[in-house]
Amino acid sequence: MCGFEVLRNKMVDEQIAARGITDEAVLEALRRVPRHEFVPKEAVDLAYKDCPVAIGEGQTISQPFMVALMTQCLGLNKSKRVLEIGTGSGYQTAILAELCYEVCSIERIKALADAARQRLGKLNYTNVKIFHGDGSLGGAESPQLFDAIMVTAASPGRLEHLIIELAPEGRLVVPIGDRASQTLKLFTKSQGRILEESVCSCAFVPLIGEYGWPSAPTNNFSGGTH
Ligand code: SAH
Repeated sequence: MCGFEVLRNKMVDEQIAARGITDEAVLEALRRVPRHEFVPKEAVDLAYKDCPVAIGEGQTISQPFMVALMTQCLGLNKSKRVLEIGTGSGYQTAILAELCYEVCSIERIKALADAARQRLGKLNYTNVKIFHGDGSLGGAESPQLFDAIMVTAASPGRLEHLIIELAPEGRLVVPIGDRASQTLKLFTKSQGRILEESVCSCAFVPLIGEYGWPSAPTNNFSGGTH
């Protein structure tokens, strides 16, 4: 077994499974995806640590536990189409791609979108489409509804564009709050109603855009639990 695989399995056992993530498919996806390929070369030592990592452009790859928790919330299988808002490094995108039929992911910073597209292509993910744009407006020019939507940046809570794009019984997971701290929320569309659950407190970089926040002050370490 190579060194990274040992570290990855340790990460899953000690940081993810030990902290209550029970969905076997999610745990297996985390064991497969080479997280060290998604962090900058100089931060490779942090790839399997219990923390978010800076990926440039003032953005972060989320803490592994948060990736696992948000993914588990969506209850995915190979028939589902997922919209992700905030591609960042593309790591969360890869985890989603392991578990569902197709992932559309939107990133507002072009350099990150281009790098993630290239990285995911190199790793042979063929069920992923990366778009550059404002994901707060919703989805990826898709004529179809999404079975699940994940927002990986902090939203002020204006979700109308996203709720419209959610299929019946669809799930939306999103951190909502102010710029400094948020609550991770899970919304489920059920018989025309929207059910809302609070999952945990968290801290993400802000969602910048028309239905997000107006601009981006520097925020170094986000995308983790408090
Ligand atoms: N899921 C990512 C975490 C990225 S951090 C990963 O695994 O690496 C959140 C990302 O959301 C940042 O890259 C940021 O640029 C992006 N973002 C912020 N506002 C956005 C918006 N309105 N539309 C799309 N992406 C946005």
